[in-house]
Amino acid sequence: MPADTTLTEEHREVRRRVRHLAETVIAPAAAVVDRDAAFPRAAHEALVAEGLYVPHLPVALGGLGADALTSCLVIEEVARACASASLTPNVTRLVSLPLLAAAQPDLAERCLRPAATDGAILAFALSEEDAGSDAAAIRTRAVRDADEYVVTGSKRWITNAGVADHYLVAAVTEPETRAISLFVVDRDTEGLSFGPCEDKLGVRGSPTRSVFFDEVRVPAEQRVGAEGEGYRLALEALDHSRVTIAAQAVGLAQGALDYAAGYVCSRRQFGQAVGAFQGVRFMLAEMAMRLEAARQLTYAAAARSEARSSDLRFFSAAAKCFASDVAMRVTVDAVQLLGGHGYTRGSPVERMLRDAKVTQIYEGTNEILRGVLAKQVLAEVG
Ligand SMILES: Cc1cc2nc3c(=O)[nH]c(=O)nc-3n(C[C@H](O)[C@H](O)[C@H](O)COP(=O)(O)OP(=O)(O)OC[C@H]3O[C@@H](n4cnc5c(N)ncnc54)[C@H](O)[C@@H]3O)c2cc1C
Repeated sequence: MPADTTLTEEHREVRRRVRHLAETVIAPAAAVVDRDAAFPRAAHEALVAEGLYVPHLPVALGGLGADALTSCLVIEEVARACASASLTPNVTRLVSLPLLAAAQPDLAERCLRPAATDGAILAFALSEEDAGSDAAAIRTRAVRDADEYVVTGSKRWITNAGVADHYLVAAVTEPETRAISLFVVDRDTEGLSFGPCEDKLGVRGSPTRSVFFDEVRVPAEQRVGAEGEGYRLALEALDHSRVTIAAQAVGLAQGALDYAAGYVCSRRQFGQAVGAFQGVRFMLAEMAMRLEAARQLTYAAAARSEARSSDLRFFSAAAKCFASDVAMRVTVDAVQLLGGHGYTRGSPVERMLRDAKVTQIYEGTNEILRGVLAKQVLAEVG
């Protein structure tokens, strides 16, 4: 693959190791994970055992201190086999970013070392029923009471909810200014409860639940960053995390292209492999071309994430938008190339099509992200 030119020997080794896990452990379980909406336990345990669940965490916290491109390669290779399995590390990584940036050292240690060493799972609780794209409109409240905060409200669409050990929760701490702060709420805290798993179109193995806070008492030292800093911290974390969502989309598209390419070589009509027909070959070429463009943009965004470049917001929004649109298109084309077989549960491409859809929705819908991109374009001329 031409993408190899951007990879070091270490990157290639990580990709080789994850691909091996994906082919031997993750892919064989993917259909059942999807059918039964079962948590992808085998994939999770395999990644943890291999030390590749959250490789970006610093060595001082038990991680590898790996760069953003390494995280992309892990997520891409896992998503190529099972998108649900790639979401657990993705969201744990998202939560780790504000913790690394602004949590008190003891709190970061307590939440992140178990993630690095034992596979502890984290959840990011920002969205609410009436505050999705307009996340600043959240209503969950945190009221200071001596050396604690009392958190009341509810969150919707929370990935890893129910299986996560810690929840990074956004809550309004100053209603007049609408200042938002972040708090870590531990799983067993009194007053914390969960709704049932959402019955989703795709990423069915990734648990998505509502989370309820009924006067949940949180020690003040579990606030992440200063009071009122939470929204900025969350947005900055999402700037980095959209890069690995782009990688997830690239992996999904690669899985669909690989499967479709194999199929058209073996499927025969009119006395020859359907892959010999020009119409089919042009489709494959188009899919591969778009996919490689998405991959290169994603890796370029990963370099910006690693360097904390001032243009990261543009690159991560562009990579996430472009790669998720490519994943949608490539998976639709893969279904087309399989004909009737693509439209039934017997092949993985219909699952990949359903899984790809959500990459256009979460961590900022592609409409919102196009707005982010346009704002930057216009700022250049204004
Ligand atoms: C599987 C899944 C997992 C998720 N995991 C998490 C999680 O772990 N943590 C978390 O906090 N959230 C999570 N989310 C929530 C996700 O981030 C939101 O669904 C997303 O931000 C969109 O919000 P919404 O669903 O309320 O849609 P809405 O904001 O209601 O949008 C509806 C439609 O209107 C469009 N729209 C809205 N505003 C504009 C605008 N200004 N311009 C143009 N179009 C606009 C949107 O693009 C969309 O097409 C998850 C969602 C899903 C589906």
